[in-house]
Amino acid sequence: MKYLYVGATPEVERQAYDAVRHRVESEFGVAVREMELRAVDFAYDRERGQYGSIAVLEMLTRVCPPDAVKLLAVTERDLYIPVLTFVFGQAQLSGRVAVMSLARLRQEFYGLASNREVFLERASKEALHETGHTFGLVHCADRHCAMSLSTNVRQIDSKRCEFCAPCEARLRRGARE
Ligand SMILES: [Zn+2]
Ligand SMILES: [Zn+2]
Repeated sequence: MKYLYVGATPEVERQAYDAVRHRVESEFGVAVREMELRAVDFAYDRERGQYGSIAVLEMLTRVCPPDAVKLLAVTERDLYIPVLTFVFGQAQLSGRVAVMSLARLRQEFYGLASNREVFLERASKEALHETGHTFGLVHCADRHCAMSLSTNVRQIDSKRCEFCAPCEARLRRGARE
């Protein structure tokens, strides 16, 4: 039996974690196991005030359990890669590990009134997106597809919380291999 592990760093709120867990379990059809992860302080960049997602992915490959088909980590910490100001998440394409950040998904981050529904929806979409990469899905030109590239929350909001038909078919083909 192989499991899709969904890990959380200590500061992650339960409600968002549960939303992510449920969405990936229903989409990918693999039993989900919870996993407690340590804080990602080791990836902190003092100058940027952010956390390097490459270092986080390296850590995840080391802690990924042997019975894990994939490991998606959820963190509150704001992630970056060197060429970008931030990333919502990062994944190994067709690999085993991915990470997503909740830091920029709340309306409050943009000085707006809190909206839990919007926040949880964004988290679920980003979970599908990053986990989709680990199952070999690449960025999709359909802006309503969860695999379309989002560089801001407006783009996340215009996506649906599901894959388009071609991405879904690709996923099903891959999953049977
Ligand atoms: Zn992506
Ligand atoms: Zn698609």
